[in-house]
Amino acid sequence: MRTGIGYDSHRFLRGRKLMLGGIEIPHEAGLAGHSDADVLVHAIIDAILGAVGLGDIGAHFPDTDPAYKGASSMELLRRVLHLVRGEGFEVTWVDSTLICETPRIGPHIEAMKEALATAGLKHINIKGKSNEGMGFTGRGEGIAAIAVATLGKAQ
Ligand code: MG
Repeated sequence: MRTGIGYDSHRFLRGRKLMLGGIEIPHEAGLAGHSDADVLVHAIIDAILGAVGLGDIGAHFPDTDPAYKGASSMELLRRVLHLVRGEGFEVTWVDSTLICETPRIGPHIEAMKEALATAGLKHINIKGKSNEGMGFTGRGEGIAAIAVATLGKAQ
């Protein structure tokens, strides 16, 4: 059994769509980033890569590479899951937390889980937490995400 941890944060930017957990969430601003800036999926990818000892998202999909400009983070997740299977592992569980004051995460959790399942990640828990007004997430400057992935040898 292997475990990995992932963390990511992105700054709010008006005029962008807000993508979280593979779905678009109606909000006054999206997140800045080279890809679609799906902060939750990025943290999940880093947790999975950490568990198999394959570095991090930036090493696999560099933000200096024009190929990943506007990239779908869900497509990157699909590729990482394929990579993991190639290493003889499967994801047995992911737990994750999104940290932000707005939008409220709770009402979107089931839709995110459905979207992630279509990318091949079926065993996941998603939580939303506010930061009680403290720090950059508390001031509404952006969204942070943490994920822990547990992987086992593929059957
Ligand atoms: Mg990121």
